[in-house]
Amino acid sequence: MDQKREHKPHCLILPYPSQGHINPLIQFSKRLAHKGITITFAVPQDVLTSSSAADISASIAVETISDGYNSAAARADADPREYLVTFKKEGTESTSRLIEKLREGRGRAVDCVVYDAFLPWGLAVAKSKGLFGAAFFTQASSVNVVYYNVFKGLLKVPVTERETVLPGLPSLAVSDLPSFVVDQEKYPGVLELLVGQFDGVEDSDFVFVNSVYELEEKANEWMKKSMSIQTIGPAIPSIYLDKRIQHDKNYGLSLFKPDDICMRWLQQRSPKSVIYVSFGSIAKLEKHEMEELATALKLTGKHFLWVVRSSEVSKLPENFTDEASGKGLIVSWCSQLEVLAHDAIGCFVTHCGWNSTLEALSLGVPMVGVPWWSDQATNAKFVMDVWKMGVRAYPDDGGVVGHEELVRCVNCVMEGERAEEMRENARKWKELAKGAVNEGGSSDRNIQQFVSTLMGVTL
Ligand code: UDP
Repeated sequence: MDQKREHKPHCLILPYPSQGHINPLIQFSKRLAHKGITITFAVPQDVLTSSSAADISASIAVETISDGYNSAAARADADPREYLVTFKKEGTESTSRLIEKLREGRGRAVDCVVYDAFLPWGLAVAKSKGLFGAAFFTQASSVNVVYYNVFKGLLKVPVTERETVLPGLPSLAVSDLPSFVVDQEKYPGVLELLVGQFDGVEDSDFVFVNSVYELEEKANEWMKKSMSIQTIGPAIPSIYLDKRIQHDKNYGLSLFKPDDICMRWLQQRSPKSVIYVSFGSIAKLEKHEMEELATALKLTGKHFLWVVRSSEVSKLPENFTDEASGKGLIVSWCSQLEVLAHDAIGCFVTHCGWNSTLEALSLGVPMVGVPWWSDQATNAKFVMDVWKMGVRAYPDDGGVVGHEELVRCVNCVMEGERAEEMRENARKWKELAKGAVNEGGSSDRNIQQFVSTLMGVTL
């Protein structure tokens, strides 16, 4: 620490207010705090009231800004374009006011705004106040390559060619591409948001990606030619990876309340015997998709732990919860990291959201990918064909992932000919993830370099 400084360097962290964005940014914040940086984490009021700020490590202060909606329901119902326009206006004003407020507090002036790349206006706010700006990408580098090529006009959308060849990536079939690159109609405005992540990024002082360098080496190498990206992942609680830092089993600021029964239930199961199923915080499966999944889980004859958010429960087949008792446990939310780290888990049936994918990679759990939208298909492609630690379940001609396909995939991952190879690869990626965040690893070095720059120290 530079003794000349009157206060520790201070980062203001601006996440997009959804679970999949809050989680990695909290974890990144904890790592910075551990290295001596003061952190203020800024979220809309409702995020604070619907979760518990006390969950986050004591070293992180939480403040509120406005996105103009301040309610999860209003946000979910909003037209994405209108939401982003409103958030930009309200967020710019409220974040500027927050920076002023923090400047007036003793020893707490902000030095750097770390903004979620979903909120590119964060950079303009930082620059208008004379501060460093750091972009934070919450998706895989490989997915960044796709969106960056759209941003630069090098990949025309909607993509219709059978195969897409992009630098740093394996050849991608249409079904491997992020969904919005193929179909913009269903969710207008979302591709603009995703491609808009690169707006002004060349003026950012730092560009962070929640990934591990070696995991996506070619994509990272290619992105580095255009901008100085730095991988800092996996941004998952240190207790699972980095033995120097033993705190916090969870991220903190959970928007859903975990059901404590899971861990007691898992305790009674034998090693590698349970299928864990979760589609994250946003996906809304159709009723018939839930039915296929329910049938598949029953047919496997294995124990399963299935997260069905309360808003989705009505889509479960009638009496399924009763029928499942004994073999299955259905909960509305769980502490996913604790579950994935448990010995009893044999495979993870996942939508392949980037956090879930990285968590499973880092904890060495083989996956069955059932992508729902967005970048999930691309993540599933990598899980199956590049990292080779799982398989992807494909939809039938009617676009539905049927129960037979799901059973095939679960059996393939848990006991098929390639199951041992996948488990071996899973162990390899787990070690790689640990190595990256432990002292001197690729992600740790990047974080340290950022901290040193803020502290005015040359490495
Ligand atoms: N998660 C959790 N409990 C659950 C389901 C999910 O804690 O029951 C967490 C999970 O660990 C991950 C995040 O919610 O960090 C979901 O992010 P992801 O990118 O996987 O998917 P999204 O919700 O953005 O679609």
